[in-house]
Amino acid sequence: MAIKQLIKRTSGWLYLNSSVGRNQLHGAGVILMLHRVLSNDRAADLPHRNELCVGPKAFEHLLVWLRKHFDCVPLMEILQPNALRTERPQVALTFDDGWRDNAANAFPLLQKHQVPASIFLSTDFIGSRQRFWWESIGETLWGSHGEKPRMHLIEYLQSIHHPVPVLLDDIDVDRRSLTLLHYLQGLKALDPMMLERLTDECPQESQPQALDWHQVRAMESSGLVRFGPHGASHAILTGLDDVRLGEEISRSRDAMFNGCNRPLPVYCYPNGDNDERVREQIAHHDFPFALGTGSGIYRGTGDPLNLPRFGVSQRTARNPELLSWRIYRGARP
Ligand SMILES: [Zn+2]
Repeated sequence: MAIKQLIKRTSGWLYLNSSVGRNQLHGAGVILMLHRVLSNDRAADLPHRNELCVGPKAFEHLLVWLRKHFDCVPLMEILQPNALRTERPQVALTFDDGWRDNAANAFPLLQKHQVPASIFLSTDFIGSRQRFWWESIGETLWGSHGEKPRMHLIEYLQSIHHPVPVLLDDIDVDRRSLTLLHYLQGLKALDPMMLERLTDECPQESQPQALDWHQVRAMESSGLVRFGPHGASHAILTGLDDVRLGEEISRSRDAMFNGCNRPLPVYCYPNGDNDERVREQIAHHDFPFALGTGSGIYRGTGDPLNLPRFGVSQRTARNPELLSWRIYRGARP
């Protein structure tokens, strides 16, 4: 392990186990952001998956570690705390997008360790075959669906004179995955219509990528998981005009009320992107709370329509002391 990482891990551990750390975290809530829980840790280790995916072993390791150092509570417990606070800091888990693996891989572990969570759904995807471009394009280029679909997508990119990823034939797996990560990050700037066209050139997977409403209700009825909206189409809200913005928020809110028994009064911005106009619209649609992606801890002050979260990657799930280092940095006055 690199010396810098070791220092971070040790400082993080010292922080959580010191009176300074405990005092700073007293009465504070930490909200964590996850996306996917894959069925295999090695797959989640690759750089192009690391940020959005954790493996089952790393996820379970994280849950055990969290239970040791925090009270694992439902999100609303942090946002609307009751008077009976324990000494320990609180943590709430959130998952973005509504991936199907949340039901298959995350939920059994949440149940096993009795850790509550909130899942934020991009509602157009739920119960449909609509796909997230990042996953479809990324995994097709990675070759997860075979060589033929990979070549087809590369030829399509060439035919429309779009740059194709270089060095994807590198023999070093990590380097190849890192190249793909940078390529995918570059695609973020593309027009959403273009990304949709590229996604259409990728093969259909055997399973839908997203949850269906039956799975949503089954998890909800366990009492351990609650759900909220994460956009309808996952469009970046700050890029929409007023009419489309209003429509996107209402459509996702209505879908939540149709599909769930008790949706959360919390909105979750796709990509975390929000500005004053977006926050006003969210409040106008009766959401008192919304989650962003700025890191920090929540103490009941600050803008409830731009709540901070700490992202969890496969690397941090494997080494949660790195997370306490980031919490330590975020908790410093
Ligand atoms: Zn998202």
